[in-house]
Amino acid sequence: MKLKIAIQKSGRLHDDSIKLLKECGIDINNGVNKLKTEATNFPLEVFFLRDDDIPQYIEDGVADIGIVGENVVLEKQKQVNIVQKLGFGKCRLSMAVEKSVDYTSVKDLQNKRIATSYPVIVEDFLQQNGITAEIHEISGSVEIAPGIGLADAICDLVSSGSTLFMNGLKEVETVLKSEAVLAACHSLKPEQQLLLDKLLFRIQAVRKAKNNKYILLNAPNDKLNEIIGLLPGMKSPTVLPLAEAGWSSVHSVLNENDFWDIIESLKEAGAQGILVVPIEKMVI
Ligand code: ATP
Ligand code: MG
Repeated sequence: MKLKIAIQKSGRLHDDSIKLLKECGIDINNGVNKLKTEATNFPLEVFFLRDDDIPQYIEDGVADIGIVGENVVLEKQKQVNIVQKLGFGKCRLSMAVEKSVDYTSVKDLQNKRIATSYPVIVEDFLQQNGITAEIHEISGSVEIAPGIGLADAICDLVSSGSTLFMNGLKEVETVLKSEAVLAACHSLKPEQQLLLDKLLFRIQAVRKAKNNKYILLNAPNDKLNEIIGLLPGMKSPTVLPLAEAGWSSVHSVLNENDFWDIIESLKEAGAQGILVVPIEKMVI
């Protein structure tokens, strides 16, 4: 029994999807132009597909799980479970209009023509805002639509905004925030569910490790309590005596988000020789 995973054949999610599997200790032969391959050290079969097709394959059970943008899952309206956000492929689906247009609120979209590759999500957004507009579905190069007179506004994926800018557009509404997710079929067999749980366990260990750093520092013993008080840690920090009398080495784990604030307070409290190192896997 193997677990079948669908990932993007080529495009923005391909490399990070392979990288995630690698970080989970799963080696796959990623032959160019292959449609299918197998992991060498985990019962996993990998299908390489267009991202648009992945939700359908999962709904049908042709693939058990898949890595795809949340935006695609929502747009395709297939019956799949989102089991884990993956932290890459981050982007937003945004409305944009030509720079010269005076835009103050979503009401300015009333009766306008909006070009997008995401008609379902856009329709939903308009409805929620009580707006009626004409949606033009186009499959690519959405950003040129206003310039060629096809639409008054567009709704497209943005990450930095530079593509919009280069096409003389400005972003005016965020419709959806998206990232890559692991989606799963509703009707997994128990053996497949077990394999998925095993994979999820590994993914979570990798994700947690990425969000945390291992910190080592030297502290004068009379400041130890104050310094320990600043460190959240997994349980409590490890404290080891240094060869030099009156000093200790303190080891702990820090969340990346708290990182800079805590480092500053630690220095102020008298910590020295602070080292911060990445963690590869983390199981709590
Ligand atoms: P395919 O050939 O598989 O259909 P595609 O051209 O539809 O590929 P990509 O452009 O590779 O798709 O984007 C795949 C996913 O990457 C998007 O659905 C989205 O979730 C994510 N993504 C992240 N940043 C961006 C961005 N700036 N523009 C577009 N997609 C982005
Ligand atoms: Mg696509």
